[in-house]
Amino acid sequence: MAILELKSISKNFKEVRALEDISMSVEKGSITVVIGPNGAGKSTMEKIMAGLYTQSSGAIVAFGKRFERGEEYTPEIREKIGYVGENYALYDNLTVKANLEFFGALYGISKNEADAAAQSMLRELDAIEFFDRKVGTLSRGTKQKIALCRALLNEPELLVLDEPTAFLDPYSAETLREKIEALMHANTAVVYATQRLEELGRLAGRVVLLNKGRIIAKGTLEELLDKIRGIRVEAVLLNAPNQEQKKALRKIGALVTGNRAIINVKSMKELPSISSSLVALGLKVATISYLDYDLGGMK
Ligand code: ADP
Ligand code: MG
Repeated sequence: MAILELKSISKNFKEVRALEDISMSVEKGSITVVIGPNGAGKSTMEKIMAGLYTQSSGAIVAFGKRFERGEEYTPEIREKIGYVGENYALYDNLTVKANLEFFGALYGISKNEADAAAQSMLRELDAIEFFDRKVGTLSRGTKQKIALCRALLNEPELLVLDEPTAFLDPYSAETLREKIEALMHANTAVVYATQRLEELGRLAGRVVLLNKGRIIAKGTLEELLDKIRGIRVEAVLLNAPNQEQKKALRKIGALVTGNRAIINVKSMKELPSISSSLVALGLKVATISYLDYDLGGMK
């Protein structure tokens, strides 16, 4: 069952067309990853989904209710949607505890209930130590976790997340993704915007590729792997390669500086073979990370 449908939505900011003819639906209890480079329109699309912006044209059907251009969500619809955006909408001068109690009260949750729920979520996210700290003194990554707790307090049916792991260390990012997957069993649908390719494989679900304000493909990860091309990865090696290894690396088109090699990969499918070819050259790989990619030939 679709809980949210975008029907040929577009959004203009004066002369800038941020979204064009966006149609997609979000199923109950599903996860949808919206991926695209910077400026693709991910945040704008999510703000429309969450009811922070209204669309310039097209219609939205949210929980069975239809909203035409310029019509704002009703309070009953808002209550079902949690949103964590680029700014965290928390009070810097209040402690984490006071913030979560405050937002809990808005949702009709008592202080005790809010504290208990917040503490258990913060424990899971490895952030319980910040419970009595003022939000203004926390790192962006920690604020992001607190904002997630705030959005979850109300047990939303739809959780809209805008690059939620952008400021998290790899461990916290992984914990957060696990938390998101756990939520899915509780029938919360999640829309998750990211520009980081490595998140795709870690979040099972449907994928929407967005580029220059348009959906250029949607489907399962398997179906879309072919469409992400021209990926540049950076391999950090434990030791700088010797002359022979350098030669071999150049043969596969790698750009080597010190103990780093930048390698172009044609498609996602070729990624697993990269680390094995490095190992075959006798190199020890510390990390492989994505630099950028293009949504090949589909712009
Ligand atoms: P993403 O989140 O994928 O990086 P955005 O949705 O933030 O993309 O932006 C999409 C396009 O819309 C960009 O060209 C951006 O400059 C423009 N845009 C977004 N928000 C505004 C705004 N409030 N006013 C004017 N232009 C905007
Ligand atoms: Mg954005």
